[in-house]
Amino acid sequence: MDPTTKINIPESALERVVIVGGGFGGLQLARKLNKANFQVVLIDKNNYHQFQPLFYQVAMSGLEPSSIVFPFRKLFQGRKDLYIRMAEVTHVDTTAKQLQTPLGHCNYDHLIVATGADTNYYGNEELERRTLPMKSVSEALYLRNSILDDYEDALTTPAYDDRQELVDIVIVGGGATGVELAGSLAEMKTHVLPKDYPELAVQEEFDIYLVQSGDALLKGMSANSSEKALRYLEDLGVTVLLNSRVTGFDGRIVTFDDDRTIATQKVIWAAGIKGQPIPGLPEEAITYGNRLAVDRHNRVKGTDCVYAIGDVAYMEEPDFPQGHPQVAQVAIQMGEHLAKNLRYRHERGEEWEPFHYSDKGSMATIGRGRAVVDIPKPEFHFAGVLAWLVWLIVHLFAILGTRNKIFVFLNWLYNYINYNQSLRLIIRPAKAR
Ligand SMILES: Cc1cc2nc3c(=O)[nH]c(=O)nc-3n(C[C@H](O)[C@H](O)[C@H](O)COP(=O)(O)OP(=O)(O)OC[C@H]3O[C@@H](n4cnc5c(N)ncnc54)[C@H](O)[C@@H]3O)c2cc1C
Repeated sequence: MDPTTKINIPESALERVVIVGGGFGGLQLARKLNKANFQVVLIDKNNYHQFQPLFYQVAMSGLEPSSIVFPFRKLFQGRKDLYIRMAEVTHVDTTAKQLQTPLGHCNYDHLIVATGADTNYYGNEELERRTLPMKSVSEALYLRNSILDDYEDALTTPAYDDRQELVDIVIVGGGATGVELAGSLAEMKTHVLPKDYPELAVQEEFDIYLVQSGDALLKGMSANSSEKALRYLEDLGVTVLLNSRVTGFDGRIVTFDDDRTIATQKVIWAAGIKGQPIPGLPEEAITYGNRLAVDRHNRVKGTDCVYAIGDVAYMEEPDFPQGHPQVAQVAIQMGEHLAKNLRYRHERGEEWEPFHYSDKGSMATIGRGRAVVDIPKPEFHFAGVLAWLVWLIVHLFAILGTRNKIFVFLNWLYNYINYNQSLRLIIRPAKAR
């Protein structure tokens, strides 16, 4: 595409707000700018919003991908002030106030970077090439296919050692994603796989490892919740390796920094994320975790009219001197707050309000009937069935769209009753012949 080509969006007398990324933050901002005095442009490389907290259920064949994604065009039907373009933003020129995309360039008056985060391999190219990430619904689906493919191959693999490599799984990263994946995989091993693969000695041969570099799971949650999660996983038969750091994986052998090894062909990488800012933003703005340093108004350091929200933003405030956690609530609250500053204070020339994150707590589930919940104020931790019910309700309400809520609820109900959902399908997209 010729870089002088302009993206096809009608010119308007209104100031143009361009939001790059329709995740939790960008979407909230776009919604809250409804009927404001702006022309709003939402650019995302996908044509749908993804509900990342339930990716692991897609990977474990518990939910269909369509239940946890939502098309932008459906969400904004009838919004006359908003234009959606599906494109990857490749560069920003903050002097010319212009973005580059494969569809052409796009001018802005206010730019909001809401591009989220990507998997962090900490510079290890081998791990990046060979391990399986789970940062998009496509990657979750790929993971589902890989796991099921290997179980199918195991049926026709007579040698015990070769079979082990196919059925054993190593998950790296003991945060919420790793813990939830390990719990769900362990339940599948106990309740589903012996029925699907009666010819395999599932209980004896299938091993699940969860590797965590620190001395506790669920860093960022309370010690109570970390310990409880560890106990739940061990009860479910997961081998949890604390204080263990994976340094290499050649496709068959996982290597640790103390020279221990595990033989497997499948390593799931859930060990970290890094911000994905748009190229062209000032170097001085890039800070910890490849995030964009922003002030309390979400303005990106060294720029004018460029803001960052959500996982890609790094903001310090007295209650969070080392930045906010990279979770959905932060992104949603930043999106909502920036919308208020833009539509009320900017328009009236008033002083902007600084952002303050209101922490509503954190939670993680470890299989059916088990979860841990931390409430910050007043400080309170609980676990078990009640925590699991709270987890279910919170996630059900957070999913976009009534249809999706109903589908997810019915799926969960069905799985709860019979442990035997029928989504274990290996579907590979192919070009029509
Ligand atoms: C597996 C998993 C489980 C999680 N579980 C939880 C949980 O239980 N609770 C919780 O609070 N948080 C959870 N999180 C974190 C939470 O999902 C994030 O904090 C949240 O999504 C951040 O929102 P965001 O708007 O900053 O970015 P995102 O939601 O990541 O959205 C970014 C958007 O930007 C688009 N984009 C990126 N780059 C470009 C580009 N160059 N051009 C165009 N578009 C672009 C992407 O397509 C995407 O739509 C989880 C994350 C993962 C990966």
